[in-house]
Amino acid sequence: MTKPVARKKVLVTGGAGFLGSHLCEELLKEGHDVICVDNFYTGSRKNILSFQKHENFSLLEHDISSPIFLEGVAEIYNLASPASPIHYQADPIFTLKTNVCGSLNLLGLAKRLKAKIFQASTSEVYGDPEVHPQKESYWGHVNAIGIRSCYDEGKRCAETLFFDYWRQHQVPIKVARIFNTYGPRMHPNDGRVVSNFIVQALTNQPLTIYGDGMQTRSFCYVDDLIRAFLGFMKTQTSLIGPLNLGNPTEFTILELAEKVLQLTGSSSSLIFKNLPSDDPKQRKPDISAAQSFLHWQPTTTLEQGLEKTIEYFDQVLSSENILQQ
Ligand code: NAD
Ligand code: UDP
Repeated sequence: MTKPVARKKVLVTGGAGFLGSHLCEELLKEGHDVICVDNFYTGSRKNILSFQKHENFSLLEHDISSPIFLEGVAEIYNLASPASPIHYQADPIFTLKTNVCGSLNLLGLAKRLKAKIFQASTSEVYGDPEVHPQKESYWGHVNAIGIRSCYDEGKRCAETLFFDYWRQHQVPIKVARIFNTYGPRMHPNDGRVVSNFIVQALTNQPLTIYGDGMQTRSFCYVDDLIRAFLGFMKTQTSLIGPLNLGNPTEFTILELAEKVLQLTGSSSSLIFKNLPSDDPKQRKPDISAAQSFLHWQPTTTLEQGLEKTIEYFDQVLSSENILQQ
């Protein structure tokens, strides 16, 4: 028999976003009181609509760059940050403030409340990696002044803050480096590759390939990732990370486009566009640490995950006719 989980007050920043809303849903299923903090920069009220009736769920509209005052919180998941390149580059100073000032504010809260705090870091801390696959011990290859730097360096600075709060104040931290994750509740205009290709295929528009499409990514389905978040948070205090979380099966962007066309049955063509600067050429996580410490590994294949995501976008597009808005 599985042990019942003790009820706690859990704060999820970025809880109205893609990953955050799935996390809130799972925490509610475990019986916790969930406080979702979001400023709706990229998040959507629709993502949390079904939980708002839940008596254990509350929403606090707030920008984490400003201090936050709450009591009784036992666990914090810090997911608030624009995550798609087009969104984090739209207002780079906001992105940096969110990741640096936001992390400081939440670490201060965790310190005062003696709460455990999880940081949604990213594979972007490895930049355009010269080591493949990427292990947690790799220090990365990051441009400090490029168009991706607001996100990459913001997340790197946040990691530094987390580790300094751990060393200086013994705040219990859990730092996860998340690799490309996709699934239902991504916004149709999110701009990341999986949602772009699916929306383009379903609306018979050309699939936009940046560069020659030979760059690689490893795509993780959202349910697999959220399982790892919850597992990591339950580990002993000494396991602080950073821990790579993602699916290690690597695909080129062209292979992804072909899979989306095949699974949607779309006759969309491919259109080649300029590769944005500093776009990483290859990315694949080494997840051996997560496998051994969390006894976790992804179980959803790209095909299975894409099928569920296509079904989701199909419903969203037909119910809202979103492209005409
Ligand atoms: P998302 O854009 O769907 O969600 C981000 C959420 O944070 C949104 O609801 C947004 O409104 C909110 N937010 C942004 N800035 C805020 C602020 N200053 N104050 C309060 N709320 C704010 O993106 P996502 O894919 O769900 O990403 C969630 C987290 O995971 C991000 O921190 C991202 O960097 C990290 N991450 C995601 C991936 C991925 O592949 N999905 C990969 C690596 C890291
Ligand atoms: N990409 C693409 N077409 C798109 C969107 C993205 O070819 O419509 C490419 C992008 O250049 C990158 C990869 O797909 O090489 C993944 O991009 P995404 O924005 O999803 O995430 P990233 O891993 O770059 O943060």
